[in-house]
Amino acid sequence: MALDRFGRRIHYLRIGLTDHCNLRCIYCMPENVTFRPGDDLMQEDEIITLVQLLVSLGFDKIRLTGGEPTLRANIVELVRAIAATPGIGSLSMTTNGIRLGKLAQPLAQAGLQRVNVSLDTLSPPRYRRLTRCGSLAQAWQGILAAEAAGLTPLKINAVVVRGFNQEDVVDLARLSLEHPWQVRFIEMMPFAGATMLQVGQAVKVGEILAALEAALGPLELLNGGKLDGEAQVYHIPGAAGEIGFISSVTAPFCAACSRTRLTADGKLRLCLLRDKEVDLLSPLRAGASREELRQLILAGIWQKPWGHGLAEGEFAVNRAMNEIGG
Ligand code: SAM
Repeated sequence: MALDRFGRRIHYLRIGLTDHCNLRCIYCMPENVTFRPGDDLMQEDEIITLVQLLVSLGFDKIRLTGGEPTLRANIVELVRAIAATPGIGSLSMTTNGIRLGKLAQPLAQAGLQRVNVSLDTLSPPRYRRLTRCGSLAQAWQGILAAEAAGLTPLKINAVVVRGFNQEDVVDLARLSLEHPWQVRFIEMMPFAGATMLQVGQAVKVGEILAALEAALGPLELLNGGKLDGEAQVYHIPGAAGEIGFISSVTAPFCAACSRTRLTADGKLRLCLLRDKEVDLLSPLRAGASREELRQLILAGIWQKPWGHGLAEGEFAVNRAMNEIGG
């Protein structure tokens, strides 16, 4: 079992399958981003080896992310191999949905259980401005394909950016009236690469909730206020779906953190918002034994930072979000 020195059991792994993306979201990466060469990224057999090791240490929940995970070559076969690892209870993916029109069905058949799809606006021009290049129609088609393939319950992730999409929050929340989806509003977090915008144009969850209640009436808090993952969940009375709020900046949920991340270049990132990482890929390539790798993982997780230091003005600087995976 992987424990940190604060007594948290760490059993949720997020794997960045690639840092490459087919969008260039303004809050995620700089416009002139340079992606890593393929040789720097974990190869399929390396991903499977590290997954097996982490599962042997009690990791039972896996989320595939990126960059854009659906861009990973052989993604369906990779999902099939990960899903076949005994001990994994939950296998999901965070994606922008652009390629789900084609891939949702094969991914579901390969063993993927659920997807979270990022969608920040329902306005095609604003989608293009936020993503710097994307097509809202394709993302929407992907969402519908995911639902049809049974990759449910479906969650929609919206990062809210002042001057770009804060006027969209009510329309996004209204999606939950008809659809059994959880529409989640995420506070923008600062990372290397786009920090000025991330700090200056972030919209706090309290402001989003107030805007929704002004337009839609009082929202009902669900689960007695207990978090669903990282989201505080509400609904519009009578709605088919839910509305979630992820207040990573203003009300962090570090005490309940059970996560670690594996970056596409094979580093165990101990906290999303701290630079501390443990290199697993270099020792794996240098011939380290499974036991040596297991010890590296356990020692790293023991040193997992308590939480982020945003309130003290401390930002993670070594990677942009596309290199970490959210
Ligand atoms: N490409 C996939 C996608 O768009 O969902 C997966 C990778 S993306 C980095 C994962 C999640 O991180 C997305 O929901 C995205 O909106 C979120 N994200 C990216 N940059 C962020 C930031 N600065 N603050 C908060 N969330 C961010």
